[in-house]
Amino acid sequence: MPLEIAKTRIGDAEIIQIIEMDVGHHFDWFLPDNNPEAIRQITWLDEPYRTADYRLNGLSQSFIIKHAGRILVVDTCIGNDKTVDEIEEWNALQIDFLGQLERAGIDREKVTDVLCTHLHVDHVGWNTHLKDGLWLPTFANAKYHFARDEYDFWLDALKQDEEGSMQSASFHESVLPIAEAGLANFIDPPTDLGDGITVIPTPGHTRAHVAVVVDAGGERLVIAGDAIHHPCQIARPHWATVSDYDKDQSAATRVKLLGDLAGTPTLVADIHFNVPSFGRIEVAVGEDGFVFVPRKESH
Ligand SMILES: [Zn+2]
Repeated sequence: MPLEIAKTRIGDAEIIQIIEMDVGHHFDWFLPDNNPEAIRQITWLDEPYRTADYRLNGLSQSFIIKHAGRILVVDTCIGNDKTVDEIEEWNALQIDFLGQLERAGIDREKVTDVLCTHLHVDHVGWNTHLKDGLWLPTFANAKYHFARDEYDFWLDALKQDEEGSMQSASFHESVLPIAEAGLANFIDPPTDLGDGITVIPTPGHTRAHVAVVVDAGGERLVIAGDAIHHPCQIARPHWATVSDYDKDQSAATRVKLLGDLAGTPTLVADIHFNVPSFGRIEVAVGEDGFVFVPRKESH
């Protein structure tokens, strides 16, 4: 694990990244267009986003945004004690994530908002934690924002799933208990959550995947969830992952998002980007695609 907590200030927002684990080796199968030779050709793509021998690096992490009195957690990693049969190293994790939150100065009782960009197993885990055999909300005083279409999609999938897939287990353990506790707020993006926080649709990786935009007093940032899994997809927006719900749509979403951001001062980060995770987007000169210009400074 390269590091466990990263802190950045963007405008008047404080951003804290809680890093759960290294997931870079999964890109070997998860992003099939990628291989060391293809990565070497992306000349701007440097360490730490790749290894010295051109394999991809990446993280499982949560972004916590403190802004205008709100504490917003964007995506909640894999979580402890979860049933993840299909990816053994994610199954029944025992990681001191809650201790890391405390050490990062986050009182989880004071978290006001949780946003899941989508409901895949590695984005909902710490929505809940296991206590005395029950899955309890980790952020008991927060509103958990779920895109309504995303929630309905996985609820339907659960009803049709006789095999008991890892997504069904995840929905049972990490999503349904939030709805049952009355903490779910179903949204139909674009949605203004107030205090400069907006949720926008970025479909393709899942049916109703969303990104969050924060206007942070002079600076703006976008946390794009899994709309872009790795900075190499900024150079190669048409590279889709094996788990994309609609590969053409996920590519179209990347092209649109990157086109809108290119040449602007808006910072973008995605959940699995290594640190430093925030950067600007530029148009690539002489070829398709875009360039990620990491913002180095952190505080
Ligand atoms: Zn993911």
